[in-house]
Amino acid sequence: MKNKLCQSCGIPLTDENKGLNADKSQNREYCHYCFHNGEFTEPKLSLDLQIKKLTEMAVSKLNLSEKEALNMANETLPKLKRWK
Ligand SMILES: [Zn+2]
Repeated sequence: MKNKLCQSCGIPLTDENKGLNADKSQNREYCHYCFHNGEFTEPKLSLDLQIKKLTEMAVSKLNLSEKEALNMANETLPKLKRWK
């Protein structure tokens, strides 16, 4: 089965990093960085800012070049549920 992506930041969701709903059940669409206790951790986050954050993360964690990382963020994020 293909890993689902967090529908806010685009990281792959695992059983360990899913966000929690208000009733403490696991949310199936958002990771715990983005979503906690039934709310977005940064409700005012914009798509532009999320693209910047994912780009920086991909450069430092995945060793992508800035351009590759930006391309990836631009391809991935606008398709996610939070940003549609
Ligand atoms: Zn996330």
